[in-house]
Amino acid sequence: MNRRNAIKLATIASSLLLTPSTMGQTIIDKSKVKNKALIAPLVVHLGKIDFLLFSDGQMTFDKAQPTFAPMVSKIDFEAGAEKLHLQKNIIDLGINIMLIQKSDKTILIDAGMGKHFGDNQGKLLENLIHAGIDPRSITNILITHGHRDHIGGIISLDRTQNFPNAKYHIAKKEYDFWMSDIPDFSHSKLSAEQIKATVSFTKNILEKIDSKLEKFEPGEKLFGFIQTELAVGHTPGQTIFTITSEEKSVKNIVDVFHTPLMVAQPDWGVCLDVDFNQGIKTRIRLLEESFANKTLLMSSHLPWPGLGYIDKENDQYNWNAFKYYTPTNIQL
Ligand SMILES: [Zn+2]
Repeated sequence: MNRRNAIKLATIASSLLLTPSTMGQTIIDKSKVKNKALIAPLVVHLGKIDFLLFSDGQMTFDKAQPTFAPMVSKIDFEAGAEKLHLQKNIIDLGINIMLIQKSDKTILIDAGMGKHFGDNQGKLLENLIHAGIDPRSITNILITHGHRDHIGGIISLDRTQNFPNAKYHIAKKEYDFWMSDIPDFSHSKLSAEQIKATVSFTKNILEKIDSKLEKFEPGEKLFGFIQTELAVGHTPGQTIFTITSEEKSVKNIVDVFHTPLMVAQPDWGVCLDVDFNQGIKTRIRLLEESFANKTLLMSSHLPWPGLGYIDKENDQYNWNAFKYYTPTNIQL
């Protein structure tokens, strides 16, 4: 190798974060890797509408059971997870959030967890700012349901509103459930302590934005292009939003599936559901419909960015993640 080529190679190596002394071993200098970098959104062009998918971070259930599949044996659970190349005892959840831009509206579907439960979540705000979107420019926030990982981000740790100019929209049924004197958890498998904590957190946030809340009936179309649909079970008024433009659409199925395992095993059940058995029925209905209609889905918690289809093989459904080769944008 002549001197010029040697210098060139050393330059390339250093730009790839390789130290020349380790060339040949391809050891990465981890101190130079910006692994705390903010996460850029994925821009999706859907007909004449653009929507952006943001990450609010990630959640981990260190013990998969009994929160997921409480009545399934450990052996069966681990075999089911292994078949899908998932970890056996841990359930990881992404927190994927959709932002829609259309004419004079900038609409968020949910607001993420906020910083109330640690630093692994609540990244939406900084990711929005990083992408050049001022939180004050958000005009509307559609609340899919009242769980902390969907509404916590409305309020900051100092109790101020993160989106001061936004109007909020929630299904009347969902609002009435959380704001009733004693929300009915008689069909859930949550402990009394868990119920108390979740009700108090949600009531607190909904009270803070009460004057800015508009209630809709599931089945209504919002802003002329977002179809609402009830997906009862996870909560009584959990709402699915289907966004359509130029005969193309994507269905935001929120928390019907928390993990690909629940796509494959919909009847194993999730204790996070307010109505455990109804959650299973809705999961199965959505699987059947989405498979039959080849619907493009977007999910709050399936692996980033949460876009995919439902497939079926040997009577078992599976999550088929949307394939794209342009890391920053997708043309549907
Ligand atoms: Zn959720």
